Amino acid sequence: MNIELLKLLLPSSPVLEVTGQSHNCLTSDDVNAIMGYSGLSQAEYMFIINKYLDNERGINEEFYRVIKPEILELLQNKKINHKSTVKIGKLLKMAVIEVTADKCFVCTGTGFLINLSTLTKCPHCKDGIFTYTDSVRTTVLKIKPKEYLKIKKIYLELLDYVKNLEISALDKLDKVKL
Ligand SMILES: [Zn+2]
Repeated sequence: MNIELLKLLLPSSPVLEVTGQSHNCLTSDDVNAIMGYSGLSQAEYMFIINKYLDNERGINEEFYRVIKPEILELLQNKKINHKSTVKIGKLLKMAVIEVTADKCFVCTGTGFLINLSTLTKCPHCKDGIFTYTDSVRTTVLKIKPKEYLKIKKIYLELLDYVKNLEISALDKLDKVKL
């Protein structure tokens, strides 16, 4: 099963219904079934429904609560001091934004800018995938460039973690045979 199939199976804005059956709602039974088939971890599942099914319920406080211990362990294993002036939660949110909101908003994902009659390559992205530069991150995080340099190492680890979460989830979904 791939993401396109998953989209067909689930309504675009699933609402978790604990009681009763409704045609346009994703019931907790459905959720459990998909989780069971795919073997997605809780965090992977939340990430996928947020990014691919446009469900804002996917990534919430619960998501951060679930992955925080893993993140702290990861940083500890790599001997990276996680005590920083910027909260880990804030950096994690930035990493999630970077991985989920990847479509370039300047050219709306086309990769080109149209000016009068000329077509130029959009300088803000690579083929429509937005380029999050250090300065973009600094702006979104609302911190000083000097501060960013101090947390950059931690941030890149978190970014890697979130990217791997997606890769691993997609890989598991790909292997599901329905
Ligand atoms: Zn662009």
